[in-house]
Amino acid sequence: MSLLAVTDLSIDYAQLGGATRAVTSASFSMGTGSSIGLVGESGSGKTTLALSLLGLLPANGRVASGEIHYADESVSQYSETQWRRLRWTKAALVFQGGMNALNPVRRIVDQIVEPMLVHGTETTKQAATQRAIELLARVGIPASRARDFPHEYSGGMRQRAGIAMALACKPQLLIADEPATAIDVVVQAQIIRLLAELRESLGLALLIITHDLGVVAQLCDDVIVMYASEIVESASVRGIFHNPKHPYTKQLLESVPRFSGMRGVGAGISGQPPSLTNPPTGCRFHPRCPSVFSPCATEHPPASRLADKHVVACHLYGHD
Ligand code: ATP
Ligand code: SF4
Repeated sequence: MSLLAVTDLSIDYAQLGGATRAVTSASFSMGTGSSIGLVGESGSGKTTLALSLLGLLPANGRVASGEIHYADESVSQYSETQWRRLRWTKAALVFQGGMNALNPVRRIVDQIVEPMLVHGTETTKQAATQRAIELLARVGIPASRARDFPHEYSGGMRQRAGIAMALACKPQLLIADEPATAIDVVVQAQIIRLLAELRESLGLALLIITHDLGVVAQLCDDVIVMYASEIVESASVRGIFHNPKHPYTKQLLESVPRFSGMRGVGAGISGQPPSLTNPPTGCRFHPRCPSVFSPCATEHPPASRLADKHVVACHLYGHD
């Protein structure tokens, strides 16, 4: 049974003048200890999808259809009380740069202790404090800095503290939104190593949301590519990097510095990402696609499985 299974999930944001569909019919699953990178241009729906997995959608967001399962438990229509029980214990979020997760006026150690006491994973303040100090040591922060306030930490330390906090209640899944953005490259490499090491030693599953394909290459087994609210390709890291199929994935790979340093900065993807309130008909990528042909503007491309893990939604490939 999967640790997490997302089936045909669609998410809407209510807005003046109608709803915006930010995620359309997304399906994927994660096993214990697996690691998936969720990539795509800004506005493609990555964060919305991730937030929905923790019941953290903004007030105007809602699951319009589809299912989210943790093991055999369907959670997509959970109440806030039910989500509060799930968050931290089954899955936890690591915020970008660590700062948003941390309360600026509370000591770091107290912030890590709190979820343990609220969720009852530790029953006394003393035991929770001990575990918080151990967790900080685990992410490379010495006990002597445990009682510091967030502003006394460097950006890298805040990110580490955010990871320690996410681990407080022993979740099986960490969802990390741009975990290595807004910190310098040396610290970035350290954070990536730390996440990889935690995954290995704790058997954690990782869902990494990022613009940075280098992070994906180093941390993930599989990749999901989103475009304009839809999953357009999913495959192993090897499949995506060495044998990308969707024209958008190919351009995405061309548009960034390569993790191996073999290719320089590419030309970028021409044209703008489409509006989600009025997306293009047929294939949503067709106005920007160099391979566009007759069915693309009118027919939505169904997903085709090309190999065990490699699925692509593009008319260039045979349909299931
Ligand atoms: P980024 O990489 O910039 O974080 P993303 O791929 O994570 O982008 P989302 O932040 O999930 O994309 O946004 C998906 C779409 O939903 C975008 O069109 C965005 O403008 C819209 N959106 C996000 N939050 C809201 C909101 N609270 N209300 C209305 N629309 C929203
Ligand atoms: Fe390009 Fe057509 Fe494939 Fe869309 S379906 S990515 S427009 S070739």
